[in-house]
Amino acid sequence: MAEGSELRTGEPAPDRAALKRRLVHSTNLPTLPGVALQIVELARNPEVGLAEVAEVMGRDPALATKVLRMANSPVYSRQRKIENVRQALVLFGLDGALTVALSFSVATVVRDASSGGRGLDYAHFWRRSLSSAAAGSLVGRQAGLQRAEDLFLAGLIQDIGMAALDRALPELYGELGDVQYDHRALLAAEAAVAGANHGEATAWMLEHWGFPEHLVAMIQASHGGDVQALEGAPVEARALFVAADLADAWWSPDRQGALAGCAERADRLLEFGQEALLALVEQLAEEIHLLSQLMETDLGDAAFLAAMADEARELLMLRNLRNIRRADDLEERTRELEEEAQTDPLTGVGNRGRFDEVLASEFEAARAQKWPLSLVLIDLDHFKRVNDELGHQAGDQVLCQVAQAIRSCIRESDCLARYGGEEFGIVLPGTPLEGAVQVCERILEAVRSASRPVAGRTLRVTVSIGLAALDAGTDMASQEDLVAAADKALYAAKRGGRDRLEVFGLDR
Ligand code: GH3
Ligand code: MG
Ligand code: MG
Repeated sequence: MAEGSELRTGEPAPDRAALKRRLVHSTNLPTLPGVALQIVELARNPEVGLAEVAEVMGRDPALATKVLRMANSPVYSRQRKIENVRQALVLFGLDGALTVALSFSVATVVRDASSGGRGLDYAHFWRRSLSSAAAGSLVGRQAGLQRAEDLFLAGLIQDIGMAALDRALPELYGELGDVQYDHRALLAAEAAVAGANHGEATAWMLEHWGFPEHLVAMIQASHGGDVQALEGAPVEARALFVAADLADAWWSPDRQGALAGCAERADRLLEFGQEALLALVEQLAEEIHLLSQLMETDLGDAAFLAAMADEARELLMLRNLRNIRRADDLEERTRELEEEAQTDPLTGVGNRGRFDEVLASEFEAARAQKWPLSLVLIDLDHFKRVNDELGHQAGDQVLCQVAQAIRSCIRESDCLARYGGEEFGIVLPGTPLEGAVQVCERILEAVRSASRPVAGRTLRVTVSIGLAALDAGTDMASQEDLVAAADKALYAAKRGGRDRLEVFGLDR
């Protein structure tokens, strides 16, 4: 504090180099927690793999919990529930995982930045940062960016320079007064009084912390000037600007005017139609609510946020948005179609396409990280007889019963699919051979006892099962090898008398 008080805002602007030195080397500044430093380090290392990231995250259970909840948030919703950090990492991919982990480890820095500050309204600073992060991943996705996580992190951390300036120049924000609520005016005022704006201050700090360069560049560019100047900037910087703009509008006392301006700029910078922005505003309430829960912070309860979303929606509707419904329906229909395209219509389990897709990504992850992976193939016994004796429809019913019985034996995170006519496949990520054997034995039993009357008769339905695992001490170069191994085991089960399990590579 003594350091800061030497510098009065009324004096001539200090030179930038001196300000930078003061910011970066002050002991009074927000510091990164150890986990964040480790993650930054990992991100800089091209050799790093998912296993190392999993290990670092494993050391911080609170962080792991947040990453998991994020993986299960609407932004990333998938058919399967993500149950552990390993699965979340596969979902996000290496870069995405590093970014999400870094986001949550720096979020606490942003949240706790207030101690030691003076003139800055930290409640506003924090809710704006969190809302920019929420808006960031939504805008990023809407803009078609591959790595929406980057926008989340950038939204969260982009204004940390304000906290730094506030500590180095304790009188600054007090003197600027209400200008701090007008982000664009604030940039100019900071530059005039302090010699640098908070966008530059953020960039200095992130460089000092060793953050990825593209992130620093994105933040700098988005703070670079007016909308016109931004038009030539890379799409990430434009998206970040729109996200922060949306967060400003969200908390603005004149929400109507602010949202209207925001819609115009979003259209100009990202060619978002008004429908797109409207859809965003609706989702923003949900995202902000989720984030405030994750960060154990109170930005207004769910009802309050939903009411704000309603209000925002009405305001935008006033500005002649008639096609909103259609856009919403379209989006929902697209989601349904995507899911339909991966589902077997008869049994409701995944189809062959889904099976191949899941197996491909899990096989790659398991091989690279030496994680266990089991693959199960299940074929109904003498199924032709069911069809021949009772008809095809009865046969269909039996297929559904069996799918149901199998589903009751596995976890939500396992992938069950119809592999072919009367054959099912299950991918069991993270499950070693012994565990998979138990699952298979449960399935044999569940199918035997699930037989219910079909076409007036109770049939004895059984299945044969072939199991192969990546950890069976066998050399599997590709997912095809693993499927072939399970298929061989299945064939052996049939030859051995059916209604049984055979395991590839184990002598019986
Ligand atoms: P095995 O124990 O050796 O597997 O004998 P199986 O009779 O089950 O084997 P096979 O491959 O000879 O016959 C499979 C039968 O499954 C023939 C086919 O008509 C029937 N099937 C395949 N898909 C469907 C389906 O969607 N519905 C019905 N009802 N039957 C099907
Ligand atoms: Mg069969
Ligand atoms: Mg068959």
